[in-house]
Amino acid sequence: MHIHPKKVKSKITVIGGGLAGVEAAYQVAKLGIAVDLYEMRPQVMTEAHSSDFLAEMVCSNSLGSGELTSASGLLKRELKMLDSFFLLHAEKFKVPAGRSLSVDRLRLAADITTELAAWPGITIQRREVKEIPAAESPVIIATGPLTSSDFAQTLARLTMRKNLFFFDATCPLIRAESIDLSKLFAASRYEKGDADFLNIPMDDEQYESFVQNLVQAEVVAAHDFEKNDFYDACLPLEEIARRGKQSLAFGPLKPVGLIDPRSGRRPHAVVQLRQDDLKKNFYQLVGFQTRLRYGDQKRIFRTLPGLENAEFERFGRMHRNTYINAPLIINNFSQHKKNSHIYFAGQLSGVEGYVESVSSGLLCGLFAARALLGRPLSALPETTATGSLLAYIANANWKDFRPSKFTFGLIDDGALDLHDKKRKKQLKAERALEELQVWIKKAAI
Ligand SMILES: Cc1cc2nc3c(=O)[nH]c(=O)nc-3n(C[C@H](O)[C@H](O)[C@H](O)COP(=O)(O)OP(=O)(O)OC[C@H]3O[C@@H](n4cnc5c(N)ncnc54)[C@H](O)[C@@H]3O)c2cc1C
Repeated sequence: MHIHPKKVKSKITVIGGGLAGVEAAYQVAKLGIAVDLYEMRPQVMTEAHSSDFLAEMVCSNSLGSGELTSASGLLKRELKMLDSFFLLHAEKFKVPAGRSLSVDRLRLAADITTELAAWPGITIQRREVKEIPAAESPVIIATGPLTSSDFAQTLARLTMRKNLFFFDATCPLIRAESIDLSKLFAASRYEKGDADFLNIPMDDEQYESFVQNLVQAEVVAAHDFEKNDFYDACLPLEEIARRGKQSLAFGPLKPVGLIDPRSGRRPHAVVQLRQDDLKKNFYQLVGFQTRLRYGDQKRIFRTLPGLENAEFERFGRMHRNTYINAPLIINNFSQHKKNSHIYFAGQLSGVEGYVESVSSGLLCGLFAARALLGRPLSALPETTATGSLLAYIANANWKDFRPSKFTFGLIDDGALDLHDKKRKKQLKAERALEELQVWIKKAAI
């Protein structure tokens, strides 16, 4: 049932009219609450947007596979069940692309802009927000990876500066169960700490062949506006390798303070893996931020001893990205832990990708609106794509937090003890849809 906006006195402010902000605004307005949606374009443009349309997809026109056993396929199915405004419109502007959902980006954005502008209760304000409104009514911040610099300063104060990042240099993440532990040893440098790292020892020959592979591999081109940022932030692995044969052995692969218990000697070089989550499901390759193509990452990193069958939960990447240290700042409802009327949505909140940003905006809008209406709402089941992604970003290891896409690895296997990976995904997906349906019914959405 849609309540008419005039019946509810309070309003919700949404800052940023991108994928997340638009979805949040719609979910709020649908519940009869008035929305002020602020978008700075066209007065202030970002480096990547090309129009003044809301919800512009800035780069690829793909929203990923439609297959239920693919991560983005499941996420999209759940979003449709939750009545996603963006996805409903995306279907209208489909272009042929096999089993994936690809769209005419600008026509989609134009259509969304026209419809949202006419939506009862939504007022679109075209101006840059520089400060967070002081009002007690909820504010959803969805200013995205290219948040304007003045507003970023405000956010830096809100998040105590050190918890706001401007650049995403992400190392690959590997599923623990796919690592052959017999070839690694657990230890901390100089035996400080509780053998917190898994270490891959390399002899001269293994090291040299690894460096050669890195030097010869292809990298993803950087956007012009990103070029200087990379080198200010940190160097990609392949760039360090190019600077000299032993650069990595003196850098991120340095063996100092590490003795391989099997040989009793210090290896020539060591690749370290650090635990990523409390459940020990994932390990990060330390210092492996990279711009190598994903196919090359898989091929080259699988040559490392113990990683021959590694399954990559996430690949390494480097790009300009403004985001908060989500586990320190927000709870499972995307709500600021200290200022409960402030919510974070989209890429800024620590998710990665178009569909993930829509998902985050949708849930944020729902949570903020229901809180304002005094309607109780339980957290989403962590067996769902939408719920597991929110739970992951709110509870990940804050010391090394990086934005995350949804992957099946974020959903616990639970009782599904299966070796057939495709079948496991199928069962996880079916369980996710069933449990989401129960949640929707219970929450009366
Ligand atoms: C260059 C680039 C390429 C990308 N390519 C892809 C891709 O191919 N596939 C993919 O899945 N993901 C991609 N992403 C990641 C991500 O999915 C998109 O950035 C996505 O648009 C994020 O949605 P969002 O709503 O969080 O941010 P956005 O869609 O960027 O929306 C944020 C909005 O806030 C506005 N804004 C910013 N500051 C202010 C302010 N102070 N006041 C008012 N308005 C403000 C901006 O103008 C913008 O419209 C890319 C990101 C970047 C930066």
